[in-house]
Amino acid sequence: EVTAAQLETWLRRSADVLAAHAEELTALDSAIGDADHGTNMARGFAAVVAKLDAAPADESPTLQALLKSVGMTLISKVGGASGSLYGTLFLDMGKAAPAANEVDADGFASIVAAGVAGIVGRGHAELGDKTMIDALDPAVAALQDAAASGAAPAAAAAGAAEAAAAGRDATEPLVARKGRASYLGERSAGHIDPGAASSALLLQTLADTLA
Ligand code: ADP
Ligand code: MG
Ligand code: MG
Repeated sequence: EVTAAQLETWLRRSADVLAAHAEELTALDSAIGDADHGTNMARGFAAVVAKLDAAPADESPTLQALLKSVGMTLISKVGGASGSLYGTLFLDMGKAAPAANEVDADGFASIVAAGVAGIVGRGHAELGDKTMIDALDPAVAALQDAAASGAAPAAAAAGAAEAAAAGRDATEPLVARKGRASYLGERSAGHIDPGAASSALLLQTLADTLA
């Protein structure tokens, strides 16, 4: 099972990890964007943690409520493409999640798949466009395959983190076809996409949390 409490731990750890990698993410974005991805992500997840801290300690939110609340916080606190895209990820995960405190590996894979489908619905990126989708799409496939073969959530998440890291690395030679980096045309090649890098960090943190 994957529980709401585990996801809350994941979100808190992600805030730490994103803060620790903020400079690196911003450096990636300075090469092919506007040098704000690290600060955007760190600010957004700090706001998520502030909201978790402000919630009454005796009320544990359902998966649905937790994920929707994260989505709304990211949309309202993070400007730029990533705010609305990561916001949509969590909002749509929340819409697909049950009003319960846990799901099995298969249910969790479906929730993440719905969130990533939400990003695609909003941003229209395809695999190979050099975006966060290049990390997230293979991660979803890995989660679904692992769940279908009966793997526990921890093993599924470890496979998804590996797939996301490979997808992130594969963005380096690509020419960006979506987002700000696409304005650079051929000059966007030779750099890892910052959003793919932050997505890989989120998946690695999930794997570490569920391990
Ligand atoms: P901005 O580009 O508005 O400054 P960020 O720098 O925070 O926003 O985020 C940039 C990242 O957003 C990119 O590296 C890319 O992964 C992602 N991105 C941009 N446009 C899209 C899109 N249409 N679909 C999916 N991801 C996108
Ligand atoms: Mg940027
Ligand atoms: Mg920006």
